[in-house]
Amino acid sequence: MEPDATLHLYKRLFLGTNKKVVLKAIVADDDSSTRALLRHPDNSSKGKLPLVMPEPEWLPDPSHRTKVVAKPFYALASLPKNQSTCTNVDAMRLKRYFGYMLKSNRMNGISEVVTASKSVVEHLFNDHIYCDEKWCQPKKEMNEKKKEEGSQSFYRSKKKDKKLY
Ligand SMILES: [Zn+2]
Repeated sequence: MEPDATLHLYKRLFLGTNKKVVLKAIVADDDSSTRALLRHPDNSSKGKLPLVMPEPEWLPDPSHRTKVVAKPFYALASLPKNQSTCTNVDAMRLKRYFGYMLKSNRMNGISEVVTASKSVVEHLFNDHIYCDEKWCQPKKEMNEKKKEEGSQSFYRSKKKDKKLY
């Protein structure tokens, strides 16, 4: 249903404007059936996009990516305490940090994102070396020489929460 509607809308957009409007990119989740349908038949067995219409580029939906990444955090938080010390608050924070990290690195290359992604867990454990001061207050304060690293008490401890880390 959704894939057919997407194809229909793109055809209307393209043909309705006498081929003047082209869909350059689609920001979406991992919907593979829509992606397959909006390909040329010679590129995909399920493709139904007329050859006269350019295939759109697919860009990941950051909100969807954040939800996908957060799912295992919440799974850890739902385990009994003797199996995991991760709490719902930890999972919520990790999800938020991942969203911040992703947002501040949208225009960066994959190697920069890989490095920045380390901030998600490290920030929870009060280590801000990989953080970006756009979203990390301790990093911002350290850069402004307002505060020494490690002075925030609500972070998890790499020593006390070693198993979680
Ligand atoms: Zn940080």
